[in-house]
Amino acid sequence: MAAIIPALNQLLHEKGHLTGADLGALAERLGIPLYRLEGVVSFYPHFRRTPPPRASVALCRDVACRLAGGAGWCGEARAELETIAGVEVHEVSCLGRCDMAPAAAVNERPISAARRADLLALAKDPPAPDAAPERPRAARQWPSDPYAQPVHHYGVLARLLAGGLDADAVVTTLEASGLRGMGGAGFPTGLKWKLVRKEPGPTKYVVCNADESEPGTFKDRVILDDLPHLVLEGMILAGLTVGAERGIVFIRHEYAAERESLSRALDEARRRGVVGPDVLGSGRAFDIEIFVSPGGYILGEETALLECLEDRRGEPRNKPPFPGQKGLFGCPTLINNVETLSLVPTILDRGAEPWKALGVRGCQGLKFISISGDVERPSVHQVPMGTTIGELIALAGGVRGGKSILAIAPGGASSNFLRADAVSAPLDFKALADRGSMLGSGAVLVIAEGADIVDLAANVVSFFRNESCGKCVPCRVGTEKAVVILDEAARGHGSKRHLALLPQLAETLTETSICGLGHVALGPFLSVMRAFEPEVRARFTED
Ligand code: SF4
Repeated sequence: MAAIIPALNQLLHEKGHLTGADLGALAERLGIPLYRLEGVVSFYPHFRRTPPPRASVALCRDVACRLAGGAGWCGEARAELETIAGVEVHEVSCLGRCDMAPAAAVNERPISAARRADLLALAKDPPAPDAAPERPRAARQWPSDPYAQPVHHYGVLARLLAGGLDADAVVTTLEASGLRGMGGAGFPTGLKWKLVRKEPGPTKYVVCNADESEPGTFKDRVILDDLPHLVLEGMILAGLTVGAERGIVFIRHEYAAERESLSRALDEARRRGVVGPDVLGSGRAFDIEIFVSPGGYILGEETALLECLEDRRGEPRNKPPFPGQKGLFGCPTLINNVETLSLVPTILDRGAEPWKALGVRGCQGLKFISISGDVERPSVHQVPMGTTIGELIALAGGVRGGKSILAIAPGGASSNFLRADAVSAPLDFKALADRGSMLGSGAVLVIAEGADIVDLAANVVSFFRNESCGKCVPCRVGTEKAVVILDEAARGHGSKRHLALLPQLAETLTETSICGLGHVALGPFLSVMRAFEPEVRARFTED
């Protein structure tokens, strides 16, 4: 299993930064050349090389926080923060806290900067870097949790094991339930499990992708915090079904409180004999470890995640082969996201048809959705699939300040923006695809009248430019070129000729990029070009 990145995480935890001497000693201890270590360290900005300040403040520069704080919020906060001795300020990509936008973190402790005074006070009196994370919110009971009390946890697994755990029946039920991957791609879960189960080989892995990092998306964070037992139970069921004995939860380092919640649940599962060499006395082995991701949106891409787990730079692989055939260390690997795995025990408990019947308007099952932007209560809800966007907005307390809606991105920053009439659209894979956007992982961003939609769409392009891993030229150069064009427009020098180039650039990225980031990087901006043409053209007037 990975050795380099966990060792670097440990060094960072102990010393606060990585010195050349420490890296030299680590390379010697691991028996690897120093350049191998440097290659990893230089890819992940989380591995800082200079001594940490008293307070390291991260300010989220992405779309939900820009919408909440205004285009200049990072600059204004920075100016105030930098008057405090010992404070270092970084503008960073989405912290996964769009429900507290504009979001910040001081020594990795998240805080809303909606009241600037709170942020300044925390920066003046920062938590120690090794301070225990604060639980940000009280746990809720969710409709998909089949357990009323902790003592009942893992009851579905126990019942299935008591009956001999028919792996084919598990796959059949998941296929019949219509469950699809809830991390964004929407691949049929039962089919994925079936394919990995069919692969030959003595060693297989199950990976839980908890690297949620897309602006607007924070529902997996809440699931990890409130329902870690369901995530673990889903992983164990996955392992026993496909023939894997090891599972890994790949979680972003910014989710410290959620990692602790998961870790407690894992300790409890181990204590109860639910994970380990003899799962509930079945004679079957399955163990789980938690791997702390050193960061970066691209690591949510499944093959970049595997590269990271193999102690390499997080650059996506060419596909095929797919991870189900040749994944972690060349072995068949089942990768599902947090929400997908958390739903498996529930579906196996209720059965496929009752699960499907929970949806409305012809849709199937339940869906966790995060809603943020211009709503009264940015939050996470689990709703019947097919709930309309308007109904979800009502659950979030309505549009902030009673304003009317200008635009909606129904599936996070990578989804195309829709006009206000999309409130009638059901939250469902097909319904949103038919409208020209997507459900994605389930993240609705609401933008009210008065917002600068062109600026927000340009901000999304900047996010993808910032998070491009740089492996392939079209994405590395193309996203930068698009940002330059959009920056010109923001400065009042938008060129009509450059605007006309953007669709061509987007086509090139879509056709030639290795991974999904390059495919979608310019899509949201193009959707704004279509839906808000006069507003966009008004910014590109120079010949
Ligand atoms: Fe990296 Fe972009 Fe290529 Fe994906 S498309 S591999 S993010 S450079």
